Amino acid sequence: MNRQSPLTALKGIGEKTARVFAKAGIFTLEDLLEYYPRSYDSFQEPVMPSSLRDGQTAAVCGTIEKPLSVRRLNRYQVTTGKIRTGSEQIAVTWFNMPYLRSTIQPGCRYVFRGRVKQKGQNLFLQQPAVYDLYEYASRTRQLQPVYPLVSGLTLNMLRKALQQTLEGLDFSSDFLPEQIRQRRDLADYRYAVSKIHFPRDEKEMLAARRRLVFDEFFFFILGIRKLKEARKEVCHSYVLKPAEDTDRLIAGLPYQLTGAQKKVWARIEADMQKPQVMARLVQGDVGSGKTVIAFLALLMAAGNGGQGALMVPTEVLARQHYEAFCALTRKCGIACRAVLLTGSLKASEKRDAYSRIESGEASVIIGTHALIQEKVRYHRLILVITDEQHRFGVRQREALAYKGEQPHTLVMSATPIPRTLAVILYGDLDVSVIDELPASRLPIKNCVVDTGFREKAYRFIGKEVAAGHQAYIICPMVEESEAIEAENVTDYAESLREHFPPSVCVEYLHGKMKAEEKNEIMERFVENRIQILVSTTVIEVGVNVPNATVMMIENAERFGLAQLHQLRGRVGRGDSQSYCIMMHSADSEAVKKRLEILNRSNDGFEIARKDLELRGPGDLFGVRQSGILDFQIADPFADAALMQAANEEAEKILEEDPSLSGETYRKIGEKLISYMKNDMENLNI
Ligand code: ADP
Ligand code: MG
Repeated sequence: MNRQSPLTALKGIGEKTARVFAKAGIFTLEDLLEYYPRSYDSFQEPVMPSSLRDGQTAAVCGTIEKPLSVRRLNRYQVTTGKIRTGSEQIAVTWFNMPYLRSTIQPGCRYVFRGRVKQKGQNLFLQQPAVYDLYEYASRTRQLQPVYPLVSGLTLNMLRKALQQTLEGLDFSSDFLPEQIRQRRDLADYRYAVSKIHFPRDEKEMLAARRRLVFDEFFFFILGIRKLKEARKEVCHSYVLKPAEDTDRLIAGLPYQLTGAQKKVWARIEADMQKPQVMARLVQGDVGSGKTVIAFLALLMAAGNGGQGALMVPTEVLARQHYEAFCALTRKCGIACRAVLLTGSLKASEKRDAYSRIESGEASVIIGTHALIQEKVRYHRLILVITDEQHRFGVRQREALAYKGEQPHTLVMSATPIPRTLAVILYGDLDVSVIDELPASRLPIKNCVVDTGFREKAYRFIGKEVAAGHQAYIICPMVEESEAIEAENVTDYAESLREHFPPSVCVEYLHGKMKAEEKNEIMERFVENRIQILVSTTVIEVGVNVPNATVMMIENAERFGLAQLHQLRGRVGRGDSQSYCIMMHSADSEAVKKRLEILNRSNDGFEIARKDLELRGPGDLFGVRQSGILDFQIADPFADAALMQAANEEAEKILEEDPSLSGETYRKIGEKLISYMKNDMENLNI
């Protein structure tokens, strides 16, 4: 048995169980060890139903008196019942767990632990886990790991598999040399990997985490160095000159470029004329106007007889950029052929796009990951841009670059990361910052309120809509499953429709919808045929509808600040006053304090810094940071010091032994190879 062994090497895991694990991306024992908890829970003593509040996670100890009832609701099976405890009771519902009807014995006492929800006047427990009393009591004494939820995979299955793996594998020699561990105060690997899953207390968990965070940065940095070596000082074989179409575009814009935009564009234009390949990161807060910079660079590539490709993380965004590009060039009288390439195109449309890309008829190509599919052959790709690039793995970025012969690369990002860290994380990229918002912008007005404010918020939205504007409402977030999330959005939109006159069109958007449906809804929203868009966070990135002036976020407490800032960035993109209403249902001072940061500042850098100051060690997990610099366990902001340390160590060992083949570092070298094969692909940097 070794780290690369398949899970079936474990006792009690056959093909069928292995398939359940595979759904979580766990194939080998190594994958299992690295399936880190998403957060830790400490189980509180059960409480009485009358003390529960909407939005809270809580345990209730009681009996189910009548048998549970199961009914169908659209595509789901809903199991409902009542938990009685003393003289009080509370309703309970489960999605898609009809078997509970036979496993829960009426009259027996259980502990039900789950999220408290409110529907109308009444509270209920949603999707609670069910424990017998003894089991629950034993858990209240320990930190409980919480794993990302995958259907069919239970905590118990993970626990058993992990225990066997920890006992069965040979951890006798750590790949990180002793001196480094001592110098950096790092636990040994075996300790780290077992305590991250089974910590007795916070102290153990933090020590384990420290080591694993170090490792994660360390291998990432080594990997980046290797990639960079591969394309060191490359010169390309084409000569680029400034293109007239870029001036034409600038002259035809409905606004003046800001000073910062001009400066950044001048840098890019100069970069692209050099014989060396450009590798530049353009960082700019949401709404700072990065798109037009990308368009200018694309036009310069096209104007020189080459092709430029723009890759974005979502279909919605790809379509939006494509349409904006076409509209803008048409308006400015620029003859530039662009194609859109996304996964949801029909087969015939795709074939058509492929052939126009290959023949060179299309000089600008805008799309999603579809751009890097094997079938796509470019005629003369000389510029590659990735937008909202924190959503792409390093390898995807590279993959697109390999489609051309040493193309220039440009990376657009709104992630507010300090320059010192950017230099480490982005390795070889030069960094430009758009540090100025268009002057015509009015700062977004924010408010943080509790759910009691909802009616008032709706009235406010009604007024904005009557004035010709539009609104987004980000729906209550549910972690239990995507199915429930979809259900929630539909329900919410439904009840909102009753609230507004029929002239106000309310629609919804969620991740489970087909790409075509999403496109259709977005199109109607862009054209103001939809006034209120209820959505999950699928609209988080890049979406640009300047006429939308209200962003209302339900359950704001469940989002990371960076993500809230991104969401809020969907409004305040035009000249009208915009508003962001952050509604929370948590009665906690800490939550209010965090949201207060957003309330006071519209500046992404400042928010990231303040957020960090507020977060204690207990907050290292828990809030979804939503793909922003999405390491598995490390947090580039909170763990900045460890990142620096890992960087120093990486530099040092590469100096001593560049090929990592000597005795001391051989194991690191081996691990790096497997890391680069497997992990970098998924890393959202
Ligand atoms: P982001 O940097 O978030 O990608 P976008 O490029 O989508 O921002 O720009 C946001 C909005 O601001 C768009 O509607 C765009 O047309 C507009 N915009 C861009 N530059 C300027 C400018 N200099 N003055 C006024 N509006 C601008
Ligand atoms: Mg953008």
